Amino acid sequence: MSGKITFTMIKPDAVRNGHIGAILNKINEGGFKIVAMKYTQLSKEKAGEFYAVHKERPFYGELVDFMSSGPIVAAVLQGDNAVESFRTLIGATNPAEAAEGTIRAAYATSIGENAVHGSDSDENAQIEASFHFSGTEMFM
Ligand code: ATP
Ligand code: MG
Repeated sequence: MSGKITFTMIKPDAVRNGHIGAILNKINEGGFKIVAMKYTQLSKEKAGEFYAVHKERPFYGELVDFMSSGPIVAAVLQGDNAVESFRTLIGATNPAEAAEGTIRAAYATSIGENAVHGSDSDENAQIEASFHFSGTEMFM
């Protein structure tokens, strides 16, 4: 399969709630190829670095605490128009506004604990993939 890449994390809430398998299934059904994947936990420092763009936002501390609170599944996905089509598959940040059938509508519990991450641009997808994976850990 060709196409661009996006980066995702199954967040600590979805892992705790037992949704890893169901979310990976939705990713497969959505037509994405998993080209890298690991089960890991972010330190506070790493979580803060990953979400540094939100440093000035009032929810930043809460976000860093949450994202480092337990294991995550980090993955790189490949597919046509990967960034935008994956954002469509996950739904709006706030699950109350997420379209029916999306991953967040099904598995997110709040705007903060919203089950999955998806890159917001091709440039950030590359940066985020490299943040978590070396070249030899990606199988395009
Ligand atoms: P992500 O980057 O995780 O895919 P997103 O792009 O939909 O999410 P962003 O605006 O980038 O949303 O926010 C990053 C994350 O910060 C959100 O996914 C959520 O976990 C948290 N967040 C965003 N807004 C709020 C808020 N108002 N209150 C609490 N947490 C929030
Ligand atoms: Mg974002």
